[in-house]
Amino acid sequence: MKGFVMKTLSDAFEHTLQDIYYAENQLVKALPKVEDSANGKKLKSAISEHLKETKGQVKTLEKVFKSIGKKPKGEKCDAIDGLIKETEGIMKEMKGEAKNAALLAACQAVEHYEIARYGTLREWAKVLGQSEAHDLLTEILDQEKAANSKLTNLAVSEINKG
Ligand code: FE
Ligand code: FE
Ligand code: ZN
Ligand code: FE
Repeated sequence: MKGFVMKTLSDAFEHTLQDIYYAENQLVKALPKVEDSANGKKLKSAISEHLKETKGQVKTLEKVFKSIGKKPKGEKCDAIDGLIKETEGIMKEMKGEAKNAALLAACQAVEHYEIARYGTLREWAKVLGQSEAHDLLTEILDQEKAANSKLTNLAVSEINKG
């Protein structure tokens, strides 16, 4: 956000939408590597299913842009870049069950970030009278919450036992 001072809620909404659009696109690139690096069928399949959903979320966000009369555009999200960087560190430096537990935790950190963003965005959409955007963003929010719950269940049943 260089050279442009955001003043209105509508500016903040558009900026945050661009931020999460960038984030989802980065995740589409990063998740296949995380899937490869994970061991254990269940974690791998949870990641691959969420990769499919993530590709759909990129398309849904494009509909959100359209619904507010804007072209889809990404803007660098330092938070997701940092979370992905941490995950790359885990893939490089850890092995065995430590790596699997840490990768699962890293995936949950991403879901929590997304839940925070989509929760905010859909409420702002509502305040701005953008009801189509509100509904589309709620759809994505529900997917992120479900993905997070699935990972929590996996952590309880597979990893954090004993
Ligand atoms: Fe997502
Ligand atoms: Fe961000
Ligand atoms: Zn930003
Ligand atoms: Fe997600």
